Amino acid sequence: MGSWLGRVAARYRMSVAQLCDAHGLELDINTSRAGWLVLPLMPDSIISQLARLARLDEGRLHEIQTPIGWAAVTRRTQTYCAHCLFVNPVDVAAPRWKRVWLDPEVTCCEVHGKPLVSINSSTLRRCKNFDQTLSVVGRLELARSRYASR
Ligand SMILES: [Zn+2]
Repeated sequence: MGSWLGRVAARYRMSVAQLCDAHGLELDINTSRAGWLVLPLMPDSIISQLARLARLDEGRLHEIQTPIGWAAVTRRTQTYCAHCLFVNPVDVAAPRWKRVWLDPEVTCCEVHGKPLVSINSSTLRRCKNFDQTLSVVGRLELARSRYASR
């Protein structure tokens, strides 16, 4: 849900906070240490508002909600698989932060079988929208690959 909202904000060239202000969305984007990327379960009223805003089916938004408890877990780091983040097989033009990565129990990529990579929640929190998240993670991955090839 967070990554979707971050993409919507990026499409409007706004930060997630600005998007919420502009549309009167009373979202708690500071529940988790990772900010808007890990949103808590949202009430139906907000889901309806978001569905109207994005012209999407409400059911689709209910499906991508963060399960109860995941956002409340105060994780200092979040985890991801770079392959999955940058190449979304469903839609290559739409990278996304997979919901399964928010599950504190998941440590391996279910597609690639590799351990997930950690990133500080505070680093993610500073990103204003999902485009920024991608460029920050992209820079980290580049630094990591340079270090690994030394
Ligand atoms: Zn993967």
